[in-house]
Amino acid sequence: MRKEMSERLINYAEVNLDHLAGNFTAIKKRVGKEVKMAPLVKAEAYGHGMVEVARKLASLGADMLGVFSVAEGAILREEGMGLPILVLSGFWLEEAEAVVHYGLTPAVYNLEMAEALSREGGRLGKKVSCHIKVDTGLNRLGVDFSQAAELALKVASLPNIEVEGIFSHFVFDEPGNEVDEEQIRRFRWVLSQLEERGMRVPLVHMANSNGVVSYPDSWFNMVRPGKLLYGCPPKGGVIPGIKPVLSVKSRVFSLRGVPPLTPLSYSHTYKTERASIIATLPIGYADGLSRLLSSNGEVIIRGRRAPIVGVVCMDYVLVDVTDIPGVKVGDEVTILGRDGDEEITAREIAERMGVVLEEVLCHLGSSLPRVYVAEGKEL
Ligand SMILES: *Cc1c(COP(=O)(O)O)cnc(C)c1O
Repeated sequence: MRKEMSERLINYAEVNLDHLAGNFTAIKKRVGKEVKMAPLVKAEAYGHGMVEVARKLASLGADMLGVFSVAEGAILREEGMGLPILVLSGFWLEEAEAVVHYGLTPAVYNLEMAEALSREGGRLGKKVSCHIKVDTGLNRLGVDFSQAAELALKVASLPNIEVEGIFSHFVFDEPGNEVDEEQIRRFRWVLSQLEERGMRVPLVHMANSNGVVSYPDSWFNMVRPGKLLYGCPPKGGVIPGIKPVLSVKSRVFSLRGVPPLTPLSYSHTYKTERASIIATLPIGYADGLSRLLSSNGEVIIRGRRAPIVGVVCMDYVLVDVTDIPGVKVGDEVTILGRDGDEEITAREIAERMGVVLEEVLCHLGSSLPRVYVAEGKEL
């Protein structure tokens, strides 16, 4: 009989593709069928595994996939993905040939980029699609909104290239500040300039997860959700039907009873107050469990929370299980996710660490072997 992969692994990240599908549907329902979906699979799909997630999203009817780099786009093509792939960062000029060769749709934010694409398109006999990346306030990458319409018109006048889309990106990740509204106004101003000059751009997009939840006037005709798709709502709120996709499991490796005032783990930063039962788990910062959780985080064992005690080591962490009856070596431990009535979310871990939840997903999801679940079964 085939043994489930999760039974052979001590630590693993479970990626629930059924929840991913549910989240995709929930977002689609929120924005309506007129609005296209360009889910983001950058950073190994926020730690969930880029190729597997991309395959699932393609089967769910995603219109386009968003990646950070040409290298990520190339991997997806090599894996046989036929969907349009938007490269959000654009490309180094030396990568123009790869962009055209792989049929990627890069962000473009200056004329040199467009000229390089136009040239390679001519050489390889292909028409290249691009999206103009407009900076409306993030001041990171993109053509300044004041110059954007002019650039779009120039790019569109080059041979072998099509301005298929135009987009911008929010500064804040929660609603309720004036900058968001100003960004939407600036972006709309660019669009109105294009309209005045008679240029039609088929795809217009701005909304990330926060935009999907809080700003319907940023949806235009395509949205680019990331964290919400992975079941992690932005601070500003949630929509119905969203469930976390990633959970992280370990197991109790050893148990010991210790007297009061026993110092634990490296540097003896923690001392027991009472006679305690301490469980050693074989998971540490090498597996993405941050050292910032030292005497700070919690895990779930037998449906109850157990605090992390002492510093997180490279391959181990200690937890206090004194208050949980019947803990045994080999018991399943939930580092991230749900067990019974208890749930530890990426948001909780992120707040304990003082980082954003994306960072938690990326580290935990990318440091451990991933087990994929679909239709309730391991793949
Ligand atoms: C990462 C990213 C997104 C998605 O952001 P979420 O907050 O995870 O939804 C959207 N657009 C761009 C340009 C991004 O870099």
